[in-house]
Amino acid sequence: MRTLFSHSARRLFSVTGIAVATLAALLAVAPNAAVQAAGDEVNVYSYRQEVLLRPLLDAFTEETGITVNLVSGKADALLERLKAEGLNSPADVLLTVDAGRLHRATTADLLQPVYSDKLAADVPAQYRHPEGYWVGLSVRARPIFYAKDRVDPGELSTYAALADPKWKGRICIRSSNNIYNQSLLASLIAHDGATATAAWTEGFVANFARKPQGGDRDQLRAVAAGQCDLAIANTYYLGQLTQANSADDRTAASKVGVFWPNQDGRGVHVNISGAAVTKSAKNKANAIRLLEFLVDDRAQRLYAEGVNEYPVKPGVPWSDIVTAWGQFKADDLNLSLLGENNAEAVMIADRAGWR
Ligand code: FE
Repeated sequence: MRTLFSHSARRLFSVTGIAVATLAALLAVAPNAAVQAAGDEVNVYSYRQEVLLRPLLDAFTEETGITVNLVSGKADALLERLKAEGLNSPADVLLTVDAGRLHRATTADLLQPVYSDKLAADVPAQYRHPEGYWVGLSVRARPIFYAKDRVDPGELSTYAALADPKWKGRICIRSSNNIYNQSLLASLIAHDGATATAAWTEGFVANFARKPQGGDRDQLRAVAAGQCDLAIANTYYLGQLTQANSADDRTAASKVGVFWPNQDGRGVHVNISGAAVTKSAKNKANAIRLLEFLVDDRAQRLYAEGVNEYPVKPGVPWSDIVTAWGQFKADDLNLSLLGENNAEAVMIADRAGWR
C-alpha cells in the first residue's frame, strides 16, 4: 500500500511546479487563491485505482489549490484501517464501492454526515444516504448476461424468472460472500419481502451450472466458453473485457449480450461507487469541496468513463462503451436499504446453500 507521506511529498512537488508557473497570474488576479494554496490539503483513502483518480485529483488541486494525499487499498482493508486508527486517522474522505459497504462504514461509526446544496442538487436522492453519511459518484448496473449464440433474449424477463426450472444447470454467478450479490438479494428483500426472496433464492441456486467461483469477469468468460448460458455481473466488467489486452477476453466479450431485466416493473438492480467524509476528518471543508468537485459535470464524465460506469449526475453524457449496451430503466430504490437488508440477505443466501 502506498504511504500517505511519500505521496504527499510528490504532490507538494508538483503543486509547487504549478504555483511557480502561475504565481504571477494568481497574484495579479486572485490573491486569495495563492494564499489558499499554502498548506491546504485533504487526505483520501481510496479503493478506486490511483491511475483512474489521479487526473481528477490533479484537476481538483489546480482548481482549488488543495493538495490531495491518496492512500489506495482494498475495500475491506481500508475499513479495517479506519477502525484501527479511530479518531486519530489522517483520512478525511473514503472512496469505495457498493452501498452495502458504505452502510457498513456508517454503522461502524467511521463516517460523519455532511450537508451540501451541491451534492443534494447533483446526486439523485436514491444515490445518497438520507442523512448525508455518503454520496454516490458513479452508478453500476447488475443485469443479466446471456450467450448470444444459445439464448434468445426474448426468453428473459425478470430476476424472479431466473428461478424457473427451465434454466436448470445454466446460470453462473459468483459467491454470495461478495457484497454485490448480497446487495442484489437485499434489493429483492426490499421489493418482494424476505419470504418470497428466500423462496426465489432456493430456485435460483438450484439452477446454478457450477459451484460459485471467481469474480464477475469469470462468470462472463464462462458464458462465452459455454460453461453456462446466463450470468449476473456488473456491467463495467463487460467493459473491461471489451477493452482487455487479451484477445481471448475481447472475443469472450463479443459473445455475451446484456439483458436489462424488470423493465416493465421496477427496473434493473443498480448500485454505486461512492464517497464519504470520515468521522475523524480534520479537513472537513476540503473534503466536502472534493466531493462537490467529483459530482460536477467534468469530473463526472471523466470518472464514469474511466471506470466504464454511469455518471451519477443526470444529464452527463455516457461513454461510448456504456452507451453501446443501450438505455434502461434503473430501480430507484434508495440504496441505503441495501445496507439495512444486508444481514437478512446473507442469511437467506446461506440457508439456500449459495456459498
Ligand atoms: Fe467490482
